[in-house]
Amino acid sequence: MKNISTDVLIVGAGPAGSTAARELAAKGIDVIVLEKKPEIGCFKRCAEGITLRGLTDAGIKPQKEWALGHITGARLYPPSEKNVVEMKGDRMAGYVVERKVFEKWLASRAVKEGARFMVKTPALGFHRSGEKCIVKTRYMDAALAIETKLVLGADGVESKVGRWAGIKALNRISDYHSGFQYEMAGVNVDDSYIHLFFGTKVAPKGYLWIFPKKFSANVGVGVLTKEIRNKRPMDYVHTFIDAHPDMFATASPLEVNAGGVPVAHNTEMVTDNVMLIGDAAQVVHPLHGGGIIRSIKSAQAAAHTALLALEEKNYSRKRLMEYQDWWETAYGVQMAKLMKIRSFLERLDDKDFELLAEVLSGEDIMDVIDAKVTFLMKKLITKPSIARLVKKYLSG
Ligand SMILES: Cc1cc2nc3c(=O)[nH]c(=O)nc-3n(C[C@H](O)[C@H](O)[C@H](O)COP(=O)(O)OP(=O)(O)OC[C@H]3O[C@@H](n4cnc5c(N)ncnc54)[C@H](O)[C@@H]3O)c2cc1C
Repeated sequence: MKNISTDVLIVGAGPAGSTAARELAAKGIDVIVLEKKPEIGCFKRCAEGITLRGLTDAGIKPQKEWALGHITGARLYPPSEKNVVEMKGDRMAGYVVERKVFEKWLASRAVKEGARFMVKTPALGFHRSGEKCIVKTRYMDAALAIETKLVLGADGVESKVGRWAGIKALNRISDYHSGFQYEMAGVNVDDSYIHLFFGTKVAPKGYLWIFPKKFSANVGVGVLTKEIRNKRPMDYVHTFIDAHPDMFATASPLEVNAGGVPVAHNTEMVTDNVMLIGDAAQVVHPLHGGGIIRSIKSAQAAAHTALLALEEKNYSRKRLMEYQDWWETAYGVQMAKLMKIRSFLERLDDKDFELLAEVLSGEDIMDVIDAKVTFLMKKLITKPSIARLVKKYLSG
């Protein structure tokens, strides 16, 4: 078996892995990124929506090569599809990106700083050896062992790095969404908006989306995994397409993809020599399932801690906890509020969705996404009809 060594080994070349690689390589750290797929960014498991606010927060300027769909807002449809709520303004403006290109762009920026990427090279396991770790892999059919001081697990929702390292990285089945999606050409919707459809029959404890890109649209659904009984996520998409000939009469799929979204953060993020970032650390927004920006932010924070750990030659859990503490400070309180709102939304029936669409404005819903929990109480004064919803919320 061939052996090589590096300062930091990153498993997974998604948005989290490539971001961490760039941050570290830019500071002169020797970094190798392993990607099990033969091509970075392909196949996507994503509706590809990102807000401009999120990109700016992550320090990324939109590029015309990947920022394809220009979105000015979102339309939210209750089951009847009447009383559509429109969300517009700076908080909603953004893009539907071409993820294949976006991911390669992120990786190429890391390469420019000196990071080395290995594709079709899966991490297969790891063990500690004194102060260091050995990660086993296979490169072009030959066994390879990589010695490293730190491992960053950026291996997504099905992360194994955490488990190998003994981190309690899995959360409950009640905290996963199962997604199914077509990318379709010829979908007839207003392409300056993303379109979100709610209802117990449309997408139980989740939502169905249409995210338009330049010449296609992602049409998909995310439903709570534990709700899947007789109807698979794919069936919800098919039912919706059949029920909307106005939108889909001339549409045809270009791509199909499916994947899971962790919609709760129940995990530890670090142990000796190891940090988890992105979906591997379950940093996704639990209401809408968006995880690209949070993955990038977690990667930046973990890279910062990794730099200090390398400087101090201290790779202990205690040293690396700085990263987990950062996450708790930045997102902990917000996550607790969002989880309460998620639990409330999951207890709504179709009548409740109709009522919410009647009384809530786009601004109110943006407050919900930002975890400002006064959204219902504020309305109670002028709309006593929502008292039953307030009761439902408070009983959660
Ligand atoms: C259906 C669906 C729709 C979504 N829509 C959106 C959206 O519109 N907007 C948004 O912000 N987020 C969305 N998300 C979430 C978003 O895709 C993730 O949060 C994001 O991709 C996380 O980035 P990551 O780098 O942590 O993980 P990933 O992007 O999952 O990257 C992990 C990488 O690790 C590689 N890997 C895994 N195991 C190994 C191994 N053993 N060795 C080497 N490589 C390995 C994988 O091949 C992969 O390339 C969606 C998710 C799904 C499933």
